[in-house]
Amino acid sequence: MKTYQFPTLEDRAAVETAIRVFLWTQRADTRMQMLRTARAVLDRYNISKLKFCNFIVETTAPGWSTIRGKQKIDGHQCPNCQADIYEQPGNVRILSIQEGRSHDEVTYGCRCGTIFNKAENV
Ligand SMILES: [Zn+2]
Repeated sequence: MKTYQFPTLEDRAAVETAIRVFLWTQRADTRMQMLRTARAVLDRYNISKLKFCNFIVETTAPGWSTIRGKQKIDGHQCPNCQADIYEQPGNVRILSIQEGRSHDEVTYGCRCGTIFNKAENV
């Protein structure tokens, strides 16, 4: 029987904290810290994907990771605090973009800590 090892609560909390710190500070260094923390946890368990309540972290290029939202929105506001996703400078940052044939799936992260995605026409 194969034994699977799952990330500890502590490791999962480290990823969630790194994401919240970036969303709150919205700085280049905290963005890098967020992506590296997520990747370090994935590597520790030798997994390529880790699911959380509202998002998924996945491995990308060596040493890096990406964050994808699970909650889809249609409008242009954060579903939690109604911040406008297109306002510049605003409270919402792009976390990742998945390119598709007819549209891109863009994951946004809001300063209030909410992560969501939206289909954007190419
Ligand atoms: Zn918000």
